[in-house]
Amino acid sequence: TTAVADLTDTVVQPRIVVGQGPANLEAEDVSAWFGDHKVLDRVSLTMPARQVTALIGPSGCGKSTFLRILNRMHELIGSASLAGRVLLDGEDIYDRGRRITRARREIGMVFQKPNPFPAMSLYDNVLAGLKLNGIKASRDGRDDLVEECLTKAGLWKEVKDRLRQPGGALSGGQQQRLCIARSLAIRPRVLLMDEPCSALDPTSTRRIEETIAELKSEVTIVIVTHNMQQAARVSDTCAFFLASHGTPGVIVEHGDTEAMFGSPRDERTSDYVNGRF
Ligand code: ADP
Ligand code: MG
Repeated sequence: TTAVADLTDTVVQPRIVVGQGPANLEAEDVSAWFGDHKVLDRVSLTMPARQVTALIGPSGCGKSTFLRILNRMHELIGSASLAGRVLLDGEDIYDRGRRITRARREIGMVFQKPNPFPAMSLYDNVLAGLKLNGIKASRDGRDDLVEECLTKAGLWKEVKDRLRQPGGALSGGQQQRLCIARSLAIRPRVLLMDEPCSALDPTSTRRIEETIAELKSEVTIVIVTHNMQQAARVSDTCAFFLASHGTPGVIVEHGDTEAMFGSPRDERTSDYVNGRF
């Protein structure tokens, strides 16, 4: 046993790098304010690795704000202040000394409106996130990375012969899949999606849902959606947000998606998921 103990003492812990696979993401008592206006009140939620968590609820209840807090994106839009903790595999992403860039590398985001760089080639679009996050990809590795990410985003076959075309030349649904490919290139551990299909037609929506289902083994997914059928189709866990009569947003109910849609515990959840809102 002495030998074993000696050996463990000398094991060098690997440096923490991006792309360690899906992580558990946990919000603990998260409250948020825009100036004096409190928009989230002590929201706690576990978003487990290898699962898709859907955030549902009426407009204005704080879903987007909550999502941005999960990767420190709200720090970019200024005025929001925050209480509580966000834990990525147990480590608070807001810890003093933990860089904001690290949160951005580990936790990617896709928005409602597809936002590729329109004049930049598809190839460079996929790699753009690497540069923004200060990650170097070897010259040899780039082609493979572009192919891998476009394949995962379900776009490779459609675009492999025109990688030099500009991002803006794609259809809306293709642009959104390009954005997914771009966010995957940094090998995030969590992918946040804020109504990723709201601007898309049903066929494109279906393609993205298929992509989400395939991705969840390698990246924790949190998706905001107003489409209840979509929440039911893609998510394992669901959280229902509500902000009634000017009160800050809270989670009224969360848990297993099937249970929440099949037998919601709270009448307000039942009304919302059944369209009586
Ligand atoms: P949701 O995504 O559920 O529709 P949001 O998170 O966008 O909700 O908004 C929650 C509340 O925060 C709303 O009352 C909204 O007006 C307010 N809010 C959102 N962003 C800002 C901002 N940048 N400045 C001030 N208030 C904001
Ligand atoms: Mg929103």
